Amino acid sequence: MYDFIKQQDAEVFAALEGEETREREGLELIPSENYVSQAVREAQGSILTNKYAEGYPGKRYYGGQEFTDQAEVLAIERAKKLFGAGFANVQPHSGANANIAMYMALLQPGDTVLGMDLGHGGHLTHGHPVTYITKFFNFVRYKMKDVETGEIDYDDMLRVAKETRPKIVLAGFSAYSRELDYAKFAAIAREVGAYAVMDAAHIAGLIAGGVAKNPFDFEFDIVTTTTHKTLRGPRGGMILTRAGEIGGMPTGEEIAKKVDKAVFPGLQGGPLMHVIAAKAVAFGEALQPSFKTYAAQILKNAKAMEAVFKKNNVRMLGGGTSNHLILADVFGSLGIPGKEAEKVLDTVGITLNKNMIADDPRGPMDPSGIRFGTPAITTRGLGEVESARVAELMLAALRDHADQAKLDAIHQEIKTLCATFPIPEVFA
Ligand SMILES: *Cc1c(COP(=O)(O)O)cnc(C)c1O
Repeated sequence: MYDFIKQQDAEVFAALEGEETREREGLELIPSENYVSQAVREAQGSILTNKYAEGYPGKRYYGGQEFTDQAEVLAIERAKKLFGAGFANVQPHSGANANIAMYMALLQPGDTVLGMDLGHGGHLTHGHPVTYITKFFNFVRYKMKDVETGEIDYDDMLRVAKETRPKIVLAGFSAYSRELDYAKFAAIAREVGAYAVMDAAHIAGLIAGGVAKNPFDFEFDIVTTTTHKTLRGPRGGMILTRAGEIGGMPTGEEIAKKVDKAVFPGLQGGPLMHVIAAKAVAFGEALQPSFKTYAAQILKNAKAMEAVFKKNNVRMLGGGTSNHLILADVFGSLGIPGKEAEKVLDTVGITLNKNMIADDPRGPMDPSGIRFGTPAITTRGLGEVESARVAELMLAALRDHADQAKLDAIHQEIKTLCATFPIPEVFA
């Protein structure tokens, strides 16, 4: 591996080698990360990186597009099939770009978006004050009604919608562990004449694998997503538009045209054709029956970890999980702040992130919680027994974090587990 880089550039080679070892010898519990297949990596490392392909298949600005068109059409068609969408734009370079393009497609400057409260699980791109998008659009919020069950306050959402007349009702999250009631989102959007949009960045793989509900079954207009989280593809984004028509709303085709214009030339320049080819490969993998098994196992493993946290009386936001991730109040339950928990677990070979919990009494730089999930360890082949064991080791490390001998023993067990479950190159 990396023969040419090794010959040519010792410094970059050292970084790549280091990361290879880190990924091999540690357990990845960051819920937005995953391991891609060698086939995805081959496509992403391919000669398509050489090609400029501004425009869309059949409508490019430069010549020589026979094979770029072939790759992009494959990615589009597979994406549509995976999600039951009418249209797919596979060019966004990232999830953030997909969301910005979606806003540009659907909104005029000054328009309002109704999205999930950022402290209750929403993403930066849903209108965090540090992002530039908030200079152009107005973001208003809905929240959970009860942080112990995770139920969204749909009554308040309707009230805010009627008061603020948003143009987009935005579902989706990066730190929320329950299913959303898409029918209610869509009904509220229709009531005020707004588009219903789901940002499925975290759970796209669960939807594609048939273990989470598909927003397109509930009259959603657009689904944006990343392609590198549960969907297990190359780092990138995508915008899907509905197939069916909804009375009083623009047709799917009209919306998709706006989306295409917003992505290029509205926001981006030349598409990353090597990444688009890798998206096609990943979507091909996700269309296999084995991906359904993978998605189902992600949930089973999360449930196994939830059971251990429950048994040990560790508070989980939303009371537990219905998806791939868990938000645990480690400060409230174990007296260890999120930042320190992240650090302790890092020393035993477990990677995850500190996270604000809803209505966190502590600050964002040193919050109360940790966020972790099962997509990557499930790709590695860990089952429920091993996932439960990982949860036990996590709690042991957090309880005994002052006892170096105990931490060393836990680290050793994690290393053994990683050696037993090597990162696969091919997915069955
Ligand atoms: C990860 C994420 C994004 C952003 O994806 P990037 O590829 O990092 O830009 C957007 N929305 C949600 C909900 C996410 O979880």
